[in-house]
Amino acid sequence: MAALIDRFTKAKRVVIKIGSALLVEESEGQLRREWLLALAQDIALMKKRGQEVLIVSSGSIALGRRILKLKSGALKLEESQASAAVGQIHLAHAYQEILGEEHLTVAQILLTLGDTEERRRYLNARSTLSTLLELGAVPVINENDTVATSEIRYGDNDRLAARVAQMVGADCLVLLSDIDGLYTEDPAFNPNAQFLSEVTELTDEILNMGGGVRTAFGSGGMITKLKAAEIAMAAGCNMFIASGKIKHPLLAIEKEHAKSTCFLARDTPRNARKKWIAGSLSSQGAIIIDAGAEKALQKGKSLLPAGVSEIRGKFERGDLITLLNREGKELGQGLSAYSSADAELIIGHKSSEIAKILGYAGRDEMIHRDELALK
Ligand code: GLU
Repeated sequence: MAALIDRFTKAKRVVIKIGSALLVEESEGQLRREWLLALAQDIALMKKRGQEVLIVSSGSIALGRRILKLKSGALKLEESQASAAVGQIHLAHAYQEILGEEHLTVAQILLTLGDTEERRRYLNARSTLSTLLELGAVPVINENDTVATSEIRYGDNDRLAARVAQMVGADCLVLLSDIDGLYTEDPAFNPNAQFLSEVTELTDEILNMGGGVRTAFGSGGMITKLKAAEIAMAAGCNMFIASGKIKHPLLAIEKEHAKSTCFLARDTPRNARKKWIAGSLSSQGAIIIDAGAEKALQKGKSLLPAGVSEIRGKFERGDLITLLNREGKELGQGLSAYSSADAELIIGHKSSEIAKILGYAGRDEMIHRDELALK
């Protein structure tokens, strides 16, 4: 068991997903402040031992509908969007206030599907989140429900949380919900269902263990959790399902006071990402880099425009490009932070000159080290 728990306690970057049913009390629709304060204390502990924490929180619609005094039962799309607009402000305020009691700085990020699914936009969201983490803040993320309609939605925050984990290269994702993990069958219907504390592969047998949706709020259920596991495991991120019904749910995982299911990733996020960069995209152009830049890359540094001497082909920001040295040897591939047109203007220049040359403040790197797959 200890080896499994290490995947949570020793993870560098952890995404915690909190379902609506935990945060919002079901009959009155009130925010469960004491529960959130206990969670904040768990997060403060994690931060103290050097872990970076991101929260993906549901609850805006559940909170907003009560404030707007909407009837119970299914809401129309416009009503959910209006509820989310009202509820999200309350939710963000509660996080700021309650996590603030533990001296945690909270940052709100509202994402739409394209922010993780389209490479150009994804680079933006990714670097904002990385900067927030470097600065010690705790990003609190939700879907931007006020503008998302069904075709352009994640739909459920389990999937959103897995996409966020993939985007930031997290090595652990914890889904806190009203169920403590994966059972061979839904334990609500079959008391003899077996609990699984470890899943190493998402076989058809495992995927068939996902039942339907049971909570009144939230759009989750075991099916969406298994979908999240698929995304996380492929991204080199371990995933836990644990019950959030108790106070201090994260401490409970760590101290093994409560059960949890761990879905084990085989790769590290870095390797999984490199495989994705090198294996699933086709190169749109090439750049020639000088010997100094080649050395810097071998040491794990990013590629700066100053080290690039030539651009070949036409590409857009976020496209995959091939790196060659002056002798024409292929060094690897990476996602470009600039289009070929802008890159032409800044190559050979210092990063501090980029804003003056292009008229906007772009990234310092031509290819960030996290977006590089060297040979
Ligand atoms: N984004 C929705 C909300 O904040 C929740 C989606 C979900 O429950 O998975 O209310």
